[in-house]
Amino acid sequence: MQSITILGATGSIGVSTLDVVARHPERYRVFALTAHAKVHELAAQCEKFHPEVAVVGSADAAQQLSSLLRDAGVSTEVTYGEASLCEVASTSACTTVMAAIVGAAGLAPTIAAARAGKKVLLANKEALVISGQLFMDAIAASGSTLLPIDSEHNAIFQCLPLGYQRQPVHHGIRKILLTASGGPFLDRDVATLEHVTPEQAVAHPNWSMGRKISVDSATMMNKGLEVIEAHWLFGAMPDQIEVVIHPQSVIHSMVSYADGSVLAQLGNPDMRTPIAHALAYPERIESGVNSVDLAQIAQLNFRKPDYERFPCLQLAFDALRAGGSAAAVLNAANEIAVEAFLDRRLGFRKIPGLIESVMNSIPVEPVVDLEGVLALDHAARAKAREMIQA
Ligand code: NAD
Ligand code: MG
Repeated sequence: MQSITILGATGSIGVSTLDVVARHPERYRVFALTAHAKVHELAAQCEKFHPEVAVVGSADAAQQLSSLLRDAGVSTEVTYGEASLCEVASTSACTTVMAAIVGAAGLAPTIAAARAGKKVLLANKEALVISGQLFMDAIAASGSTLLPIDSEHNAIFQCLPLGYQRQPVHHGIRKILLTASGGPFLDRDVATLEHVTPEQAVAHPNWSMGRKISVDSATMMNKGLEVIEAHWLFGAMPDQIEVVIHPQSVIHSMVSYADGSVLAQLGNPDMRTPIAHALAYPERIESGVNSVDLAQIAQLNFRKPDYERFPCLQLAFDALRAGGSAAAVLNAANEIAVEAFLDRRLGFRKIPGLIESVMNSIPVEPVVDLEGVLALDHAARAKAREMIQA
C-alpha cells in the first residue's frame, strides 16, 4: 500500500491525482493533502479521502479549514506554512509524494521529499529548473525513485530503455524530440499578440491546466522550461533536445535512436495517464482515460517552432547553454512576468523582453547550494518587479 502526500492537491494536477487514487483504494491511501488558499476545496477533499494531515498557506486559512472539518466531523490534523509542507513531504508516514505545487513555492518540500528518499512524482517543473543538479544529487544520494509527470517527460521516460533513463546519450540515442502544441497563438497574426488578454492566453486548445502553466504554454516558455527539465532528468545536452510543433497533442514526445528508430508515446491529452503511469510504475493501472482513436484523429501534423513568434523558447535554450544560475533567473523573471500579465500590469508581448532584461542584469554564477541559488531567485524577482513598475 502506498501512502501519498499530494502537494498542491486543489490544483489541476492534484485533482487529477485524486481521481486516479480514488479508482484504486486497495493500492493507495492519502496521507496528506496541501493547498495554498482554496480552503473549501481542500475541506471537500478531506471529507472524501480522510488524510491524516492537511496543510494550508496561512494561520487564517488553517483556522477556517479546522472549523469546516470540525463541522463535518473529519478528524484530519490541520497545519500551515512551509515547514509543515516539508514535514508532510518527508515523514516516514508517507512513501510517495506528488509534487504539484506551481512555481518556486514548491521547491523546499519537493527537495525535502527527494532528500528523504521518497518516491517523487514530479509535476513541479519550476523546482527542477531552479535547483537542477542539486535536486538530481539529492535524488541520487537518498536512492529516491524519480518519475516525471510532465506529459512530455513521462512519454520520453516510457520510450527510453529500461534502466538507462538517467544517461540515455550513452545508449544509442540521437535525440529527444520534445513535442509542443504551440498553444492558443500558434497561428494568430503576430501583430495582434500585443492585445491578447489573460482569458485568451489561458484558453489552451488541448489541455485544461492551471493559469500559470497555461500562460507559459501561450508564450512557449513552458516548452523552454521543459527543455531544461529534459536536460536534468535524462542527461541530454541542449543539442540533443529538439522541439517539434505537433498541434494535436496526441504524441506526447519521442526518442530518436542511432539506428533510425523513433519511439513515441501516444495518448489523449489527459494528465491522468502520466499520473497513473508514475503511481503504478512499473505496473499499469486503469486511469479513467480512453485510448486514442486513430481513425477519428485521422491526421498528425508536425512543423518546426518559430523562434521569432516565441522568443521565450530561445531564451530558455540560451539559459540552459549558459548553465549555472541562468535557468533559475529565467524562471524567477518568468514567474513575475506571468503574474503581472495575469494582473493586467504587463502586456503579453512584453513578457520575453522583461525576462531577457532581467537575465542580462544578473550575472551567471555557479550553483553551489540551495541558499545561493535562492538568493539569485530573489534578486531576479526584485529586478523584474522593479522593471515592471518603471
Ligand atoms: P494549479 O494552479 O492548478 O495548482 C497549483 C497548486 O499549488 C494548488 O493546489 C495551489 O493551492 C498550490 N499553491 C499555489 N501557490 C502555492 C504556494 N505559494 N504555496 C503552497 N502551495 C501553493 O497548477 P497546475 O496546473 O496543477 O500545475 C502544478 C504544477 O504542475 C506546475 O509546476 C505545472 O508546471 C506542472 N504541470 C502541470 C500540468 C497540467 O496539466 N496542469 C502539466 C504538466 C506540468
Ligand atoms: Mg508538459
